[in-house]
Amino acid sequence: MFKALQITQPETGYRCDLTELDESSLPEGDVTVQVAWSTINYKDGLAITGRSPVVRKFPMVPGIDFAGTVTDSQHPRFKPGDRVVLNGWGVGETHPGGLAQKARVKGDWLVALPAGFSERDAMAIGTAGYTAMLCVQALQDHWAARGVAAGSGEVLVTGAGGGVGSVAIALLAALGHTVVASTGRPAEADYLRSLGAADVIDRATLSAPGKPLQKERWIGVVDSVGSHTLANACASSRYGGAVAACGLAQGMDLPASVAPFILRGVTLYGIDSVMAPMARREAAWAALDRLIDRPKLAAMTRAINLAEAIQAGHDILAGQVRGRLVVDVNA
Ligand code: NDP
Repeated sequence: MFKALQITQPETGYRCDLTELDESSLPEGDVTVQVAWSTINYKDGLAITGRSPVVRKFPMVPGIDFAGTVTDSQHPRFKPGDRVVLNGWGVGETHPGGLAQKARVKGDWLVALPAGFSERDAMAIGTAGYTAMLCVQALQDHWAARGVAAGSGEVLVTGAGGGVGSVAIALLAALGHTVVASTGRPAEADYLRSLGAADVIDRATLSAPGKPLQKERWIGVVDSVGSHTLANACASSRYGGAVAACGLAQGMDLPASVAPFILRGVTLYGIDSVMAPMARREAAWAALDRLIDRPKLAAMTRAINLAEAIQAGHDILAGQVRGRLVVDVNA
C-alpha cells in the first residue's frame, strides 16, 4: 500500500482525498518510481479543485510532476536506483500522477535528474520552473539571432510572485538581464528584488484594456498571465522584441491587435511544457542546473505534506501562493 491523493467524481460531486492505494492500482508503464517530492503547480490547483476539466479519467491521482528513484524498469535508459524527474505528458490528468508515494510511467517520459539537483531542488523548480526555462530559452534564441545583448533593455516578467514568474526572474537575472517584475502583491516587492528584479510594477498597469501600440519598453517578456496583460505586453514591446506566452492566470483570451507584430516586428512565442520533445526537456534541465541560484531557489520554496496539498490547490488558484510549493509525499 502507498499514500496518494485521489480525485473521484461520485454523485455527491468532485472530490480530492488523501487515501491509501494498492500497488495493483498502478497504471501500465515500463518504469516504476519511488516518489520523493512532488509540487503544486497552477494546473494541479485546477485538478484538485475541479475548477477546470483538466482531469479526464476517474479515479485520478493528481500531480503533473514528480522526482524520485527508479525501483523497477523495463526501459533501456533506466535502471533501479536512477534518479529521475517527470513533467507533463498528461500525468496527473489522464495518467495517475506524482502526488503519491509511487508512480508508474513510460520511461520515454522521464528525464535523468542532473547530478547537481536533489529531488527536492528538482521539484522546487517543478513544471513551473522548467516552463520558465523554456520561455527564457525561446527569448535567448530570439536575441541571439538578432545580436541583442543582455542588459541592453528591460525584460518584463508577469505573474511575478507565482512559480513561473519567480523562477523566470532568477534565471533572467542570472543571465545579466534587467528584469521588471509585474505583480498584484506590492508587499512582495522586496522578495521579487531579492530574486533579481531591478524594478517592480503594479500588474494593474497591464491588466486593463490598452491601446494597440504603446510606448516601446521591453526587449522581451515572459508572460504567465494571458488576456489583457499579454496584449499590453505585446503592445509595449520594443521594435523586434519577443514575448514568450505560457499561461492564463488572468484569462485564456487574447484581446490584442496585430499592430505590434506587423508594425514593430514583435514575435509571440507559444510555450508548451506538456508535450515538449525530450531533447528540449533535457536542454532545459541542463540549463536550469547551470543557471539557477540555489539560495534563491530555497528562498522561493516552501515545503508541505500530502494532506496539506489539497488546501494548497485552492490557495494557488486564489493567487495566494508565493513562489513554489514542494510536497514531501513521504511526510
Ligand atoms: P502561480 O499561481 O504560482 O502564478 C500565477 C501568478 O499570476 C500569481 O501568483 C499572480 O502573481 C498572477 N495572477 C494570478 N491571478 C491573476 C489575475 N487575475 N490577473 C493577473 N495576474 C494574476 O501559477 P504557476 O506559476 O504555476 O503558473 C502560471 C501560469 O502558467 C498558469 O496559468 C499555468 O497554467 C501556466 N503554465 C503553463 C505551462 C505550459 O506548459 N504552457 C506550464 C506551467 C504553467 P502576482 O500575485 O505576482 O500578480
